[in-house]
Amino acid sequence: MSEIKVKERGRELIVNPLVTCQPFGAMFATLGINRALPIVHGSQGCSTFVRYSLNRHFREPAEIAVTSLHEDAAVFGGRSNLINGVKNLVKRFKPDLVGIVTTCSSEIIGDDVEGFMGVAESELREELGENFETRIIYISTPSFVENHFRGYGNAIRAFVDGLADEKTDQNGKLNIIPGIVNPGDIREIKHIIKLMGLDSIILTDTSDPFDSPLRPSATARMPFYPKGGTGVSEIEDSSNSLGTISMTMYGADAADSLQKRFDVPSEHCMPLGVKNTDEFLRTIMRLADADVKDEVLDERGLLIDSMADLSSRYLFGRTAAVYGDPDMVAGISRFLCELGMVPRYVCTGTDHPAFRDAMKTVASESMEHVNLMPDSDLRALERELMEEPVDILIGNSDGRLIARDLNIPIVRVGYPVYDRAGYHRIPIVGYRGGLNLLNRITNTVLREYYEPEHWKLQQ
Ligand code: SF4
Repeated sequence: MSEIKVKERGRELIVNPLVTCQPFGAMFATLGINRALPIVHGSQGCSTFVRYSLNRHFREPAEIAVTSLHEDAAVFGGRSNLINGVKNLVKRFKPDLVGIVTTCSSEIIGDDVEGFMGVAESELREELGENFETRIIYISTPSFVENHFRGYGNAIRAFVDGLADEKTDQNGKLNIIPGIVNPGDIREIKHIIKLMGLDSIILTDTSDPFDSPLRPSATARMPFYPKGGTGVSEIEDSSNSLGTISMTMYGADAADSLQKRFDVPSEHCMPLGVKNTDEFLRTIMRLADADVKDEVLDERGLLIDSMADLSSRYLFGRTAAVYGDPDMVAGISRFLCELGMVPRYVCTGTDHPAFRDAMKTVASESMEHVNLMPDSDLRALERELMEEPVDILIGNSDGRLIARDLNIPIVRVGYPVYDRAGYHRIPIVGYRGGLNLLNRITNTVLREYYEPEHWKLQQ
């Protein structure tokens, strides 16, 4: 077993952060529900930044409302802003669900959001009668603690707690909590589950809402809501599923809640790389009492074949620095070990016991020591790389300037990727995703170290 060396950030100030605040994750999760709208109970910037960030990565619009708190609300509270905001949304856009997302300001002034929500609901019931069918869910996201992954987890927990019905007949489906991943990744998971002859409830399915076809209707007007997303009725049915697999450690609260209330078994597994995808399939087989299908074994075989062709020739012994989402960096690091590479630095903006556990497994499979940088930032990683450079950087677009300044090639994965087009459609999970990631890493190494104009190997 190789050693894990934990590198502390060594200062309070965060420079070039790897995480953002909780509301981001809650808005993202809400937008994965069919005909749903998040309303942010805070200042305008709290929604504008998120919309900008989502647009930049997915190149799709994100409809997010805001209660627009100003100075007076900080003194007198945001009661009327929230009640009127929710009522306007319901009356104008007739959503199936409204997710009320709190922020720093509304949490600090101590607004009674649940109470205001109750008032809005009873007034809407009075005004609209039976036509009031919108489900309204309160998602507490105090943004001065933790990060956007926690906000995502809080939202999924609020949806299952607020919507899941009493258990009736088993539906034969698997609940999947994908985390903050790309449309391509969610589609790959649905593809694997379909190959296994099963069906799923994705909690929540952001794939189509963030990658919708442009198909104006006969009236030449674009529909207000994007196609797809998880139906409210599907979330209601999640209590009847065979089990819940959370691909993110921050989805465990929601999965555990379903287990506690409805006896739906809860598992955590990010299918990134060969062993992790094997584990994901074993979990599906156990929960659904299913057999692995030949097509899945073929996909696995193609990945193993490519690894045999490429890893010993071009990748063996190469060092990498991986940064970003804790589930993703732990999965990629394990995959690098499978390729014979060394995940020299593994850096994330959070810390979580499940992340530490996953990294112990990585260290046990790594040829050389791994520098672990939990609760860190990109500046800390940059300083480390100045002292001890690596062969390749793997992470989001925020690391591109480090790559340029230190002359290290970069493989763009995760969120956000805003300086390349179409990456959100290319999966990195599952066996086919592993093949994409392997090709991307190998091509970057080939371009950087094997093309005549670079030929670093011979310098
Ligand atoms: S940190 Fe607070 S003020 Fe800033 S965007 Fe997040 S919720 Fe809004």
